[in-house]
Amino acid sequence: MIGPGTRTVWVLGSPLGHTLSPVMHNAAYRAMGLDLVYLPARVESGDLRAVLEGLPRLGAVGCNLTLPLKQAALALMTRLEPPAAELGAVNTVRFEGRSRVGFNTDAQGWLRSWDEEVGQSLEGRPVLLLGAGGAARAVAWALASRRVARIQVVNRDSERARRLVASLARTEVPCRVGAVEFEPDMVVVQATSVGMVPGDDATCLEWPEEVPPGVVACDLVYRPRQTRFLREACQRGVRTLGGLGMLVHQAALAIEVFTGQSPCLALLRRVAEEALSSDRCTAPGVDPGCADGC
Ligand code: NAP
Repeated sequence: MIGPGTRTVWVLGSPLGHTLSPVMHNAAYRAMGLDLVYLPARVESGDLRAVLEGLPRLGAVGCNLTLPLKQAALALMTRLEPPAAELGAVNTVRFEGRSRVGFNTDAQGWLRSWDEEVGQSLEGRPVLLLGAGGAARAVAWALASRRVARIQVVNRDSERARRLVASLARTEVPCRVGAVEFEPDMVVVQATSVGMVPGDDATCLEWPEEVPPGVVACDLVYRPRQTRFLREACQRGVRTLGGLGMLVHQAALAIEVFTGQSPCLALLRRVAEEALSSDRCTAPGVDPGCADGC
C-alpha cells in the first residue's frame, strides 16, 4: 500500500517501453515486506543531472539507468564502485545523502547467470564475442576477470570493436578484432541487438553443421527467450545460455545495492518469465521444448 512513508526507486532512460525492471523490483520489494515502489521515468541525457539532483530530495533511494544514460551518468557520480569506471558505464545509482554512488551490475550479473546455469570453469577457454556495444563490453570485462585464454571480437563497426579491444588492454587476457572461427570449448557470446525484434528472427551468426566439442552458445538477448542464434546452436547439440539469467541477476544485484538484502531469485525469474510470455515475444518457428540451458 503506497503511503506517506513509501520511498521510491526509479528506472530512467529513453525509450523505456521494453523494460522488465519494474515488474521484477516491485515483486521483490513486496515479497521482502519493504515500503518501496519502483517507477519508470522517461529521461533524456540533457535532463539527467537535474533529475539525479532532484530525486534524493523526494526521498528516492536510488535508480537504474538504461540507454542512452549509462555513459552520461559517469561524470555525474560522486564515487564509482568497480567495475563501473572500467566499463565506462553506470546502470545503478544509490543516493547517500548528497552523494551519488555509481555501480554496474551487468558484468557480475552475467557471471552469476553463467555459474548458475552452465556451472563450468571459464578459465583458459577461448571466447568469440559478437558485438562491441555496452553489453559486449560488460561481458568482455567479466570474461577477462575469470582469466579466459583470449577474446576474439567480431562487430559490424570494426572501429567500435577496436575500441573495445583497447579497453581490455590493461587486463592480462589477449583480445583482438577477428573473424568468426570456432574452436573446442569456445564460449560464443552473442552481444549484439540482432534477434531482439519479435517476429524478425534474424541472426548475426551462421553456425557450421559440425560445431567443435565443448562449445557453449550464450545470447544476451532475452526477448524473445529463444532467439534463432540459440535455436540453431541447440539443433547442433551445442549447450546454450539465454539472456534472461543475466537480466535477473543484474536486477538482484541492484536490489542488494538499494536495500542491503538479497531478493528471491526464483521470484524475479518467474515474474520476468510471466511478463515475457504475456507479450507473445516468442519468435516464429520456435520449439518451446528447446529452452535455454539445453
Ligand atoms: P548497444 O550498445 O546499442 O550495442 C548494440 C550492438 O549490436 C553493437 O555491437 C551493434 O553493432 C550491434 N548491432 C546492432 N544492429 C546490428 C545489425 N543489424 N547487424 C549487426 N550488428 C548489429 O546495445 P547493448 O546495450 O550493448 O545491448 C546489446 C544487446 O544486449 C541488446 O539486445 C540488449 O537487449 C542485450 N542486453 C541484455 C542484457 C541482459 O540482462 N540480458 C543486458 C544488457 C543488454 P555496431 O557497433 O556495428 O552498430
